[in-house]
Amino acid sequence: MANETKIPYKIYLEESEMPQAWYNVRADMKNKPAPLLNPGTLQPMTAQELGGVFCQELVEQELDDHTPYIPIPQEIRDFYKMYRPSPLVRAYCLEEKLQTPAKIYYKFEGNNTSGSHKLNSAIAQAYYAKKQGLKGVTTETGAGQWGTALSMACAYLGLDCQVYMVKVSYEQKPFRREVMRTYGASVTPSPSETTAVGRKILAEHPGTTGSLGCAISEAVEAATSQEGYRYVLGSVLNQVLLHQSVIGLETKAAMDKYGIQADIVIGCAGGGSNLGGLISPFVGEKLRGEADYRIIAVEPASCPSLTRGKFAYDFCDTGMVCPLAKMYTLGSGFIPSANHAGGLRYHGMSPVVSQLYHDGLIEATSVEQTKVFEAATYFARVEGILPAPESSHAIRVAIDEALKCKETGEEKTIVFGLTGTGYFDMVAYEKFNNGEMNDYIPTDDDLAQGFAGLPQVD
Ligand SMILES: *Cc1c(COP(=O)(O)O)cnc(C)c1O
Repeated sequence: MANETKIPYKIYLEESEMPQAWYNVRADMKNKPAPLLNPGTLQPMTAQELGGVFCQELVEQELDDHTPYIPIPQEIRDFYKMYRPSPLVRAYCLEEKLQTPAKIYYKFEGNNTSGSHKLNSAIAQAYYAKKQGLKGVTTETGAGQWGTALSMACAYLGLDCQVYMVKVSYEQKPFRREVMRTYGASVTPSPSETTAVGRKILAEHPGTTGSLGCAISEAVEAATSQEGYRYVLGSVLNQVLLHQSVIGLETKAAMDKYGIQADIVIGCAGGGSNLGGLISPFVGEKLRGEADYRIIAVEPASCPSLTRGKFAYDFCDTGMVCPLAKMYTLGSGFIPSANHAGGLRYHGMSPVVSQLYHDGLIEATSVEQTKVFEAATYFARVEGILPAPESSHAIRVAIDEALKCKETGEEKTIVFGLTGTGYFDMVAYEKFNNGEMNDYIPTDDDLAQGFAGLPQVD
């Protein structure tokens, strides 16, 4: 056992201690995530079919359920060194303020210009596109974190980057849009007139402010209709979770170095990529029977795919051009209430995270946004970092678990993912500070409408 007092506020690994391979948790899963299906034939997507949309090497990673470690190419490791290793912070100030016997740690992924963990996969996906000799990539973005990360990666590698940004964010969040353009990306508000699917959605829903599902459909069409382009996605897919395993591997390495044993691991869950990445090595130990952990996914009460969704095949996008994925879902037609400010608004959940949840290897809980912003504000004042609203879902539950320890006197070790900073989310903070934020929890009837649109697959 390491001496408690020797654990520094921040544990930084040496560059030489950074992971040299990503960990593919699917290799240790007894029940593999269900394959993506072709929406026309309902047969598993072949590598060839996927290769029309995604880069070849990423297709291989997507379909690889068996290789436990996949080497991180040197070029990607070099880029990672621009902002990694990221610190594992011991939240001494938070513990003190809460007067809890719990030991709280967070892995902070906000130390790069994009302000989140998304750069970990953006650079990998851009690298494989470049290696394949492509001209550029297309993608969608909601609030803009993923688009920003991808623009940074593409600028570094000299690739063209075309981003379809959900229209309401494009108009209301000019700052991230301009960061993307500063890095050389072209940004189009979605739905747009530039694609057939965008024109169709606009004709059916004039005046729509867009959704992630729509923007995905447009970005996929843009990729498949231009020579030398492929589509990339910032969450949900197996390959993205694979790249994000760098978060969990670094966390585990830092903890092992100081002899710290986690009891509870907590992450926020939108599409499931940061959570999947953070928990992968811990789940791997659980699956191999080497250790046991409580693992908690935290989602918004207004978009509760794990806690209230159905485990079923569903469309990943509104235009229904993407493959079907088996996941916990609210239905591709589900659109979270307009007053939802806290991110994490995707209707589905990563198939890997979904399968782990279905098999009882992880728990899930949902939290209301006013409680999330209370935790965010508390954390900012105590620990100094202004957290992203998404990350603050994990903060909320970490604080709640630490308060339970205060009651019971248990000295549990809690680790959570602090995925990013909230500097571009000040409109949401403003609402909270003005007391204008409220909670909206969808009724069962609201959810039934989304479920009614689920495709029939058996
Ligand atoms: C995108 C994002 C998330 C949610 O995405 P996941 O794929 O669920 O990880 C969480 N936190 C931040 C800061 C993000 O930008």
